[in-house]
Amino acid sequence: MKSEFVEIPSLMPKPEILSCKRVLAIQAHYDDIDIAVGGLIAQLVKNGAEILYVTVTDDLAGVIDLTLSKELASSRLQSEAENAAKILGVLGIYNLNYPDAGDWSVYQARRDLITVVRQFQPDCVISLDPWLNTEAHADHYKSGFAAVEAVILADVLGVQGSDLQIPKEFHGKQKQEIKAVGLFNSSQANTFVDIDQVLETKLAAVSQYVSQFTDESMAAMLVALPERSKHFAGIGHSSNKLSKEVTYSECLKVLSADALHAAR
Ligand SMILES: [Zn+2]
Repeated sequence: MKSEFVEIPSLMPKPEILSCKRVLAIQAHYDDIDIAVGGLIAQLVKNGAEILYVTVTDDLAGVIDLTLSKELASSRLQSEAENAAKILGVLGIYNLNYPDAGDWSVYQARRDLITVVRQFQPDCVISLDPWLNTEAHADHYKSGFAAVEAVILADVLGVQGSDLQIPKEFHGKQKQEIKAVGLFNSSQANTFVDIDQVLETKLAAVSQYVSQFTDESMAAMLVALPERSKHFAGIGHSSNKLSKEVTYSECLKVLSADALHAAR
């Protein structure tokens, strides 16, 4: 049966995410961004962008060596994430340390993220797509919701942030408007990024995350990621959103910040 509904396309022009120069990338867990869009991150750095990661949870639930103390597990996660950040050229990582797979509040994380936006002053925010309709992991959709709400509220001075302080070196020197919002792990991608030149860099970064993968599962992921990128490239080719010459691609939904707030 034909649907009685008609999809209304947005009137907001799609921003050019690859021209952004100050990017706040928000993830639930320490490896979410690099697995999904590490190639985009590497390409943004090549284009001259400064990138700060914010990891919302402490990520301790996924550590496979259960004999490690909480402190030792945390320091291993931190050093793996820092090694990956160095490979990709990311400025740094700021951790909010909410309990991984725990009962944390979107509202509180939103307050923290509003403060991070106000201090870092990004022109682009990248996060998980909170509207992925099959996502069962609450850390993922809660982080995504907190991120997109922070985007629309950071400029509303009557809305309170929290009292956290990101390190001074990450503070933005001038006030910026958020031009682009990029949502990864999306089922409604409108942007296919050419990662042919940065795939190896992405895989080198992802291979740092050894605390949460066995040797076998890491080896399988390093095979699966290029395969998935070829699959995305094929979708990009058939939708005429990616040059046929590109072999590997990552995809995401890119919106203007205005498109997140009733205006379409
Ligand atoms: Zn995750």
